[in-house]
Amino acid sequence: MDIESSKIEPPDAAARRAVRPVIVYPLDNLSQPDLRRYRRAREGAHKTDEIVIEPRQAACFEVEAGRFFRITCIEGPQVGDLNLWNAHDIGERFYSSKTRALHGTHITVGDRMWSNLPFMRPMATIVEDSLAWYGKDEYGASVHDAIGSRCDPYTGNLLRGTTYHHCCHSNLTRALARRKDCSLDEAELHVHDVLNVFMCTGFTLDTGRYFMKASPVRPGDYLEFFAEIDLLGALSACPGGDCSFDHSSDAARCHPLQVEVFAPKEGALADWSPPSINDYDRSHGCEIAK
Ligand SMILES: [Zn+2]
Repeated sequence: MDIESSKIEPPDAAARRAVRPVIVYPLDNLSQPDLRRYRRAREGAHKTDEIVIEPRQAACFEVEAGRFFRITCIEGPQVGDLNLWNAHDIGERFYSSKTRALHGTHITVGDRMWSNLPFMRPMATIVEDSLAWYGKDEYGASVHDAIGSRCDPYTGNLLRGTTYHHCCHSNLTRALARRKDCSLDEAELHVHDVLNVFMCTGFTLDTGRYFMKASPVRPGDYLEFFAEIDLLGALSACPGGDCSFDHSSDAARCHPLQVEVFAPKEGALADWSPPSINDYDRSHGCEIAK
């Protein structure tokens, strides 16, 4: 069948299109985070760490399970690309596609950042979002994107023939190599699809193309997480700045981002414990050798 004839509609096209959608992963049986309890624990918390990520750079930070970390826009509109790993095993890392399949294309308060298979457990829960008011705009865009992968030098090379070394992928690679004292080649394999903090994106309604627009973030805006497990994080201050017109170059105006870590008072989460890894038996239909 050629392309043109494949576009001829069958007689029942309208009826086929009229079928109602169903949610792929209903969350009725998913245990919900106890946000009120997290917030009570946060009230008496004290700051244990603070770092500033310079524009077009990335830096690592650690957060113990049961603590909080806050990403803040401090000088001007700026998007941040976030990677999370299990601090004790960086083979366990943020699983962007399943997170958006569970919670949606953009995440906010009460949503979790899930880890990859076979671990698949909450790594972090969003407890505060000063941009939660934004919702979905007239273009279908929203904030805190779990869609995009991350800006990287390979795509720039493919599409524009450019060589640019301060894409988020490279920034995260350098930061992880420094933190783990390993080679760039080794670190690069652990850099993964990010949560685009503060980034405002969507899909065009006519062709479904991925788009970005100027982030509504302003100095003082923040996104705060509860660490469900011991975390190693890395945040890149994207070369796209507020992502209003370009990325993967030095064209955009960029600003630093701040990460703060807070520890609750002793005993504030006394009988709380980190979630276990997924308990699927991993036999995949085969008998497990005992
Ligand atoms: Zn970026």
